[in-house]
Amino acid sequence: MRLILLGAPGAGKGTQGVRLADHYGVAHVASGDILREHVAEGTPLGKRVAAYVAEGELVPDDLVLAVIGRAVVAAMETGGYLLDGFPRTLAQAKQAYAAATQGDIAADAVLFLDVPDEVAVERLVDRSATSGRSDDASIDVIRHRLEVFHSQTYPLLDFYRQDGRLVTIDAGAPPDEVFDGIVRTLDERLGA
Ligand code: ADP
Repeated sequence: MRLILLGAPGAGKGTQGVRLADHYGVAHVASGDILREHVAEGTPLGKRVAAYVAEGELVPDDLVLAVIGRAVVAAMETGGYLLDGFPRTLAQAKQAYAAATQGDIAADAVLFLDVPDEVAVERLVDRSATSGRSDDASIDVIRHRLEVFHSQTYPLLDFYRQDGRLVTIDAGAPPDEVFDGIVRTLDERLGA
């Protein structure tokens, strides 16, 4: 199974990503987790990305590729993968597509976890108490991340809709229900 997860901050990409990767037995590549590891370890790349992440800005495309490119390619080479948080800009999507189609390993489906902004904000504010994430700590940064999602990532929905791979999931329900809905939908569409 080859999947891409799209969704606003707070849509549940991380929660569903872990479960789906486990369910389908594929590598889970979470771009935000990899970026945060670099920041926590203080690597040279981590130092260059820290401010973007803390302010809720996207990390520039070339830097993101420098940090996560190898993990994405390694996951793609295993045949099955789940990409969570990447691609997030049209340029990233086109690059991922070019790399994947060369090896005939484009995603089977692109899941869009759809939640209203206010639900996302509420979840992120709740999560801020325990996540320890610099970008969950302020309501302004939370709101900014949602704006960035709408302006920079939302256009990817059309890109994937055009080639028929977009699957929209109502992600406002509790996690177990969302997970069951995703698996049912994928089973129906792909006979997985
Ligand atoms: P969320 O979706 O809740 O914001 P993520 O862990 O996916 O959480 O991303 C956290 C931050 O990491 C983003 O706000 C951004 O700064 C950076 N980031 C993650 N993935 C990408 C990407 N593909 N391109 C650019 N920046 C990214």
